Amino acid sequence: MGGVLAGRVDAHVHLSRWWPRIRETGYRPDLDYSVAGLLAEMDRAGVERALAIQMFQAPSTEEALVEGRASATASAGRLLPVATVDPTRGSDSVAAALRAIEAERGVVGLKLFPGYLAFYPHDPRLDPVYEFAHRKNLPVLIHQGDTLEGRGLLKFARPLEVDEVAGRFRDVQFVLCHLGNPWIEEAAEVVYKNPNVHADTSGLLGPPTAPYFDRTVTLCRERILHSVLTVGSPEKFLYGSDWPLEDLRTAVDLIEGLDLPEPDRRALLGGNARRLFRIPEGRPGRRAPR
Ligand SMILES: [Zn+2]
Repeated sequence: MGGVLAGRVDAHVHLSRWWPRIRETGYRPDLDYSVAGLLAEMDRAGVERALAIQMFQAPSTEEALVEGRASATASAGRLLPVATVDPTRGSDSVAAALRAIEAERGVVGLKLFPGYLAFYPHDPRLDPVYEFAHRKNLPVLIHQGDTLEGRGLLKFARPLEVDEVAGRFRDVQFVLCHLGNPWIEEAAEVVYKNPNVHADTSGLLGPPTAPYFDRTVTLCRERILHSVLTVGSPEKFLYGSDWPLEDLRTAVDLIEGLDLPEPDRRALLGGNARRLFRIPEGRPGRRAPR
């Protein structure tokens, strides 16, 4: 790391023992699904830090926080925890989850999984979550578009469903994950309309062994570029991989190959995430993030 490579931030990775069916969905038989394995891959791809998003399959927010803390410590602060809240578990559970997140050091954001858990982003059960996000100045990431598991319901995962709540909670910063894929134009419009809505580029590519993979990379670049040009604000887009679904090198190359000015590509690859998640400049380890 260092030099021009310093400062890259992956806004979307998952490292959890509660990741479902990792052998089938991780794509790579040689995948080292551990802190050491992820850090080695980050080094190879010149990625300094990554947002490690906790999984809704964890038994509780509290247990996921413990796992996230261990990853943050083992990585000397390079893996930044993003906590998950499930509003379908009831108001007592949500309140307990928020208390646990408040007591936890170093959480940089909150993640919601509406398509998997069957709630809309504007569900009133989420009001305490958004009020907490406002009070603690934590961006809210929302899974969007295709669900890896067949049991998900796509109607809950459309970017348009975020528009209303982005208006109601103007002081909360939102991130539409996966650029809303396949509703990428819809996501771009929600990002364009709402000053507090951003999008990440994670998880857009299938496995490298898939038919037409090279052509899908080209197509993906065109779709990302189309979104950035439509919105006209490159600072609202964040590079992410959805590791282990994409390897980091491929995910970084996707952005490196965009027909955008070099400073804008660099901002997508790290500067934008640093600003949004208030990640300190420079190599981690010197002081704990918040
Ligand atoms: Zn993800």
